[in-house]
Amino acid sequence: MIDIGANLTHPSFHNDLDAVVARALAAGVDQIIVTGTTVLESEMARDIAQRLGFHATAGVHPHHARDCGPQTIDELRKVAQNPRVVAIGECGLDFNRNYSPHPSQEKWFVAQLELGLELGMPLFLHSRDAHPRFAQILSHHKVKHAVAHCFTGEKQELHAYLDLGLYIGITGWICDERRGTHLLQLVNDIPAERLLLETDSPYLTPRDMRPQPKSRRNEPAFLPHILNTVARALGKPPDEVAAQTTANARRLFRLDESRSSSAAQRAASA
Ligand SMILES: [Zn+2]
Repeated sequence: MIDIGANLTHPSFHNDLDAVVARALAAGVDQIIVTGTTVLESEMARDIAQRLGFHATAGVHPHHARDCGPQTIDELRKVAQNPRVVAIGECGLDFNRNYSPHPSQEKWFVAQLELGLELGMPLFLHSRDAHPRFAQILSHHKVKHAVAHCFTGEKQELHAYLDLGLYIGITGWICDERRGTHLLQLVNDIPAERLLLETDSPYLTPRDMRPQPKSRRNEPAFLPHILNTVARALGKPPDEVAAQTTANARRLFRLDESRSSSAAQRAASA
């Protein structure tokens, strides 16, 4: 399985990352896309991916849009040169927390969309309480190769994203009996070839997992729990959903190509 969104640069992983990775591998999660949320964290995500044989994204989360400057896009472009980096993002709009002013969020969202299009790379998108503005921007820029990561919205928002051609990332939000139960029905609207699974570690620990981890920290090893919940909601065997979502992640992030291109690069530099 592939966890398409794990924030392994988060300080809560600094002391035991190798143990976290060992548990993920033991749980059948053999590929992780490490999320970059600032320029610095994207560099760290790239380095972790390189060291552990994983992949990474390069981007600035809308919470941090106010920290962007004239160098930001060039810096992200540089991080994205590494073949382990397979997407631009996490980028998007967050009108829930509003840590950055909306005009600044939109400016740097668009700048990162344009970078993704320039580099021919898929986008790792974040949207919270930003529909329909988020969809309008994507539509205007004709963005197609992208995932709406950690989808938590309602039916109308889901269909707007599907109409744009987006993949949909489902997290442990679907296991949350307070605010995620609508997703149990809604995942049935997602075409099988557009569904992706992610933990968003260390956030969003599945609330119905027993026992709950003592640290309350989520980690990639818990992805099978999310898989099982999604499979039950779809009425499909977990193995089938695992195979399908893994194939989807490989296709969107071109994982086989990036692996062969890094092999080619190694051969070229040898
Ligand atoms: Zn996010």
